[in-house]
Amino acid sequence: MTTYEFTCPGCGQRGPVDGDVRNATVEYGCPVCGTEVSREHFLVH
Ligand SMILES: [Zn+2]
Repeated sequence: MTTYEFTCPGCGQRGPVDGDVRNATVEYGCPVCGTEVSREHFLVH
């Protein structure tokens, strides 16, 4: 599965996520601070 590097624009949270987590984060916001994020905040490894 593809791994992405997530960087939150709100709180600076960073870490690797898989595609399912990426989709959930885009839908529901950052799991740490709730900031709305988009796919551009995920870099493909
Ligand atoms: Zn955040």
